[in-house]
Formats: sequence, C-alpha cells, structure tokens
Amino acid sequence: MKDVIIIGGGPAGLTAALYLGRYQRKVLLVSDVIGGQAALAWKVENYPGFLQISGVELLNKINEQVKQLSSVEMIIGDRVEKIEKVGERFKVKIREIEVEAKTILIAAGSTHRKLGIKSEDELVGKGISYCATCDGNFAKGKDVVVVGGGNSACGSALILSELAQKVTLINNSVELHGDAINIDKLVKNPKITIINEAEVLSFKIDEMKLSGIEYRDKSGKKTMVPAEMVFIEIGQVPATEGFEGIVKLNEKKEIIVNPQTKETSTPGIFAAGDITNILYKQIIIAAGDGAQAAMAINQFLNR
Ligand SMILES: Cc1cc2nc3c(=O)[nH]c(=O)nc-3n(C[C@H](O)[C@H](O)[C@H](O)COP(=O)(O)OP(=O)(O)OC[C@H]3O[C@@H](n4cnc5c(N)ncnc54)[C@H](O)[C@@H]3O)c2cc1C
Repeated sequence: MKDVIIIGGGPAGLTAALYLGRYQRKVLLVSDVIGGQAALAWKVENYPGFLQISGVELLNKINEQVKQLSSVEMIIGDRVEKIEKVGERFKVKIREIEVEAKTILIAAGSTHRKLGIKSEDELVGKGISYCATCDGNFAKGKDVVVVGGGNSACGSALILSELAQKVTLINNSVELHGDAINIDKLVKNPKITIINEAEVLSFKIDEMKLSGIEYRDKSGKKTMVPAEMVFIEIGQVPATEGFEGIVKLNEKKEIIVNPQTKETSTPGIFAAGDITNILYKQIIIAAGDGAQAAMAINQFLNR
C-alpha cells in the first residue's frame, strides 16, 4: 500500500514527489514520459535561478533530486488509465498491475489541441507536427508554417526560423498574444511572415505527404501557402480523459481544486499543475502547485 500515487512526471508531479519523498512518504510516480510539456521547451528563460536552460535539462535536474529519495518509486513509460475508489482507499491500474494507495495526486498536465481539419491525423509524421522542439530538425531548409498566435506558436516560429528556409505564421486573431519580447523578435525576423486574422481551411497533399495549407483571410480571400511542414501550436487540452467520473471538472475539462489545498471534489484525491483550473500555466506555477499539493497530502495523511 502506497501513501500516494502521483500520476504525471512533469514539473508538478516531480516537485510533489520531491516534497513527499522528503516527508518519507511511500510514493509511486507513474508517467508515460519524464519532464512533461516542460521537456518540449527549447529554451526556458523564465525559471528563476537560470539565465537560460533547456526544458529537458531543467526537468532532468528535478528528476535527479527525486531519485535521491529512497521512498519514491517510479514507473516511467506507462499510463494510469483509471482510478477506482475502494472504501477509503484508491486503486489504480497500470497495465496488468494494480496498486493501492491512501491518496492520489493527478498531475497529468495537458496535451496539444488539434485543428480538427480533414486529414490532420493521417498527416502526423508526414508533414504535420505539434512540437517544433521535437521535430524542428526535419524543417531544415524547408518552407514551413506555424498555426497559432500564443506563446507556443511565437516560440516555435522563432525556433524554426533558425532551421527552415521560410516560416509563415498563421494566426486567427487580430494580433499575436505571445510574450512581448518574442513578438518583437518575430516582427524583426526577415525569415518570418505573420498573417493575422486568418482561418485555416485545408491541407494540400501530394503523394501522401503534406505540400501546402490553405487559409481564408479577413477579406474572404483564400490562399494556398506551399509548406512541407506545418506546426500546429493552438494551445493545450487538459489530460483528464479517464478521470472524468472520479473528480469534478469545469467546462474546460480542467479538474476543479481547492486553491489552498489542491484537493479535488473527492477527498483523498488531489490535483496540481496544468490539469487543474489554475489560471496561469507555467513551469514555476506547476512546480509550486506540486509543492502545495504535497504539503496538503502530508497533512491529510497525518489525520
Ligand atoms: C512547447 C512548450 C514550451 C513551453 N515553454 C515554457 C517556458 O519557457 N516557460 C514556462 O514556464 N512554461 C513553458 N511551457 C508550459 C509548461 O511546460 C507547463 O505549464 C508545465 O509543463 C505544466 O506542468 P505539469 O506538471 O502540470 O504538466 P505536464 O508538463 O504536462 O506533465 C504531465 C505529465 O503527465 C504525463 N501523463 C499524462 N497523462 C498521464 C496518465 N494518464 N498516466 C501517466 N502519465 C500521464 C505526461 O506524459 C507528462 O509527462 C511550455 C509548454 C510547451 C508545450
């Protein structure tokens, strides 16, 4: 029997494991990958203590801290699909293994939002990507398009401008919504063309591969932009699939938590980070959330 099962190995889950391990609680952390979305950040420049660090390096450092703690066990490369309440306890299934715990921390973060346009799924790996950090290398010397207008899209366009021949940024709102410092760099970058107030309509496919993307501008004019790769960066959706029945979600499918204790609608189940209804989604906030949840869980276990 574990004291806590932590679902998710991003900044929230790892930080919670660090705190709970230091309380010598018996912890099992389960995550399909270590680092979460933070590991996709090419350059993190807003985490205190580091002028600039890659997301992978930052999360590896936190992971190293967690690995020092003997009461924390990790299963990496697997997912928790379901949580079951059994009396006062909880049971989770990880493939064929069932593990029981006194409390659960859901820190499963979020995943990329899809455009929902015909052929999007079949073009993944054949021109469509949701991660410039992961797939940017394939854009070397190519004409590419980034769809989106927030921080991720702006950051991706900048990353890609260092690799691709040409980057077109298609944004559906009046202006970009990324950090001012990034927007300034984008506007000054001769390799990047920004198209605001444009709606993506379709993908062009040649020989089973992406060859272009069509958009309609505010005047109603349709344009096909040649592109060997399209990076879709239109935000994230909380990874709450599978947890819907056991904790209350809001209309955005985020887990509703008590802002002070991070406890969900189900006593004994806590949630932290991007998967919750916190307003701002950042590495430092997720880490702080994980710490807060861990302290509340420790108190809950002391009752
Ligand atoms: C490209 C990109 C760049 C970013 N850059 C920055 C930046 O520069 N600065 C900044 O502050 N923030 C940045 N962010 C935001 C930041 O990464 C997130 O706010 C933060 O990672 C959220 O942490 P989290 O622990 O809540 O969730 P996540 O990081 O999403 O981690 C959740 C983990 O849970 C795992 N998981 C999900 N479901 C399950 C399941 N059922 N079972 C087991 N495991 C599961 C996932 O695989 C993942 O490893 C960026 C995000 C992206 C996408």
